[in-house]
Amino acid sequence: MTFDTQNPTPSLLPTNPRLGENLCTDTLPYTPTPPQPPTKPHHKAKALKPGSRRPAKELCSECGLCDTYYIHYVKEACAFINQQIAPLEEVTHGRSRNLDNEDELYFGIHQEMMSARKIKPLEGAQWTGIVTTIACEMLTQGLVEGVVCVQNRDEDRFSPKPVLATTTEEIIKARVNKPTLSPNLSPLELVEKSGMKRLLVIGVGCQIQALRAVEAKLGLEKLYVLGTPCVDNVTRAGLQKFLETTSKSPETVVAYEFMQDFRVHFKHADGSVEKVPFFGLKTNILKDIFAPSCMTCFDYVNALADLVVGYMGAPFGWQWLVVRNERGKQMLDLVRHQLHIQPVMSSGDRRQAVQNSIPAYDKGITLPMWAARLMGIVIDKLGPKGLEYARFSIDSHFARNYLYVKRNYPEKLEQHVPEYAKRIVSQYKLPD
Ligand SMILES: Cc1cc2nc3c(=O)[nH]c(=O)nc-3n(C[C@H](O)[C@H](O)[C@H](O)COP(=O)(O)OP(=O)(O)OC[C@H]3O[C@@H](n4cnc5c(N)ncnc54)[C@H](O)[C@@H]3O)c2cc1C
Ligand code: SF4
Ligand code: SF4
Repeated sequence: MTFDTQNPTPSLLPTNPRLGENLCTDTLPYTPTPPQPPTKPHHKAKALKPGSRRPAKELCSECGLCDTYYIHYVKEACAFINQQIAPLEEVTHGRSRNLDNEDELYFGIHQEMMSARKIKPLEGAQWTGIVTTIACEMLTQGLVEGVVCVQNRDEDRFSPKPVLATTTEEIIKARVNKPTLSPNLSPLELVEKSGMKRLLVIGVGCQIQALRAVEAKLGLEKLYVLGTPCVDNVTRAGLQKFLETTSKSPETVVAYEFMQDFRVHFKHADGSVEKVPFFGLKTNILKDIFAPSCMTCFDYVNALADLVVGYMGAPFGWQWLVVRNERGKQMLDLVRHQLHIQPVMSSGDRRQAVQNSIPAYDKGITLPMWAARLMGIVIDKLGPKGLEYARFSIDSHFARNYLYVKRNYPEKLEQHVPEYAKRIVSQYKLPD
């Protein structure tokens, strides 16, 4: 359903189609309150026109804030102009992370971590659909009146179309990753104009940092944030280059993931899965495809979400859940009975593999495919698993991104790199 900013109507009742057998069908009607006259400083500001240069310039991740009148706060709120994860952790979770606690250093503040998967996976979801299921439950059980999530454009399965969903159909339509930069915060202006008071936002780290920075200005009574980890994101053009360079059939790819078995898994439209070893990727060609924002990003694990749902800290085939605070626990409690759950595990030692990968990536070394496959098999058997795999991925990406910031934005290095990331990177010897 399209939300008309000028005329929010009372016809926006959740229609609650059932999501598998497990979804609660209770509904609480959503009655929009009349729009308020402009009273706050941001009401006089104007969203930037599509395509115009953003305040963060080439570092902009297109988070969507500048597509709204909240651009008024961009200098404080933008994750690339004013990195402020530690103070925002204090506001959101009551304290910033303890850098001497290894789990907090890596995964941020949390009450609980676990591996989980849906007993009845949601067809067409990225993994088993835990994110979509939680969002649907929150709407149908009346915890929120709307959900900010991202569907795809009709003409292109990978082009993002952020929406303010008010029905479960609209949330389900947003399932599966759009593996591109996505202006998820662009519906925020609609939220305030509609008079909505209880909201769920689904998003990745840079979007959530900007959201938390303006949270107090949104006029909400309750905000829930369901995050996913995120790394190596690309523009739509960059995605095309990646698909064409890496997959045998780029035009039929419907989803892909960099998996814990050290291979990229491409899901194709006919249901087949193509696996390409990480070590065989053409890094010399692909080096430039990641967006500059993502080469300077250190919020892999979405530190400011209430609940994070990813996969990298879980054994192969399972999703990885990080419950950061009471709101996150409340969200998870809605669906626990729909999940298989097991404790997190960790095995192996990542350090040498990370140290070896740093100069190899830096020089753009690509192995022949037979050697890449062999190396993938050996590392999959002997390499890091569970939380140690997550640490492997965090270490390698933070080392690469630290070097990128140091070389391209030396004046930003001190302020932009959070203390936890500096500590993680300091374990390794980096090239100049
Ligand atoms: C760009 C991106 C990169 C990721 N990288 C990693 C990673 O490196 N390691 C890891 O452990 N997990 C990563 N994840 C998370 C993981 O791929 C799954 O999204 C997550 O486990 C949830 O799976 P699900 O089946 O529960 O999601 P689904 O039920 O399929 O729901 C997916 C949700 O993601 C939202 N979404 C889709 N695309 C975007 C986007 N571009 N920006 C913001 N929100 C979006 C949609 O609104 C939808 O609600 C990434 C996610 C994204 C979007
Ligand atoms: S990242 Fe977001 S807040 Fe920063 S300039 Fe881009 S759209 Fe604006
Ligand atoms: S990698 Fe970081 S900057 Fe890039 S889209 Fe993901 S969260 Fe945003």
